[in-house]
Amino acid sequence: MENCIFCKIIAGEIPSQRFYEDDEIIVIKDIEPKAKLHYLCIPKQHFALLSEMNGEQAEIVKRLFEKVGKIAPQLGLGEGYRVIINQGENGGQTVRHLHVHLLGGEKLGDF
Ligand code: AMP
Ligand code: ZN
Repeated sequence: MENCIFCKIIAGEIPSQRFYEDDEIIVIKDIEPKAKLHYLCIPKQHFALLSEMNGEQAEIVKRLFEKVGKIAPQLGLGEGYRVIINQGENGGQTVRHLHVHLLGGEKLGDF
């Protein structure tokens, strides 16, 4: 997708610190961390919203969560973490390519 910052990161056109990658997803460090550890888990297929997701993408997102559960300890999130998906304007979504925030590395406050 043109002008999508996450598609450019996936394509290697914008540098990122990658912590996990396979054929379906990447996990990178958020450039403006909101917690001691802040990762973004990004499906390689471009779509912006859960409401736009097709069946194949839903399967990818399902596997994304399975993988997050498995790799969390390797990411330093073994003591627990928060999962956030911002959706649309009111949800505060600034990058319109679906992504899952993983926040942890410390005791998080209420939100
Ligand atoms: P959201 O507000 O849910 O759309 O989240 C977008 C996130 O992407 C924010 O937390 C940004 O800090 C992060 N971000 C933006 N550009 C980059 C980048 N080049 N590398 C890593 N994270 C980024
Ligand atoms: Zn994209």
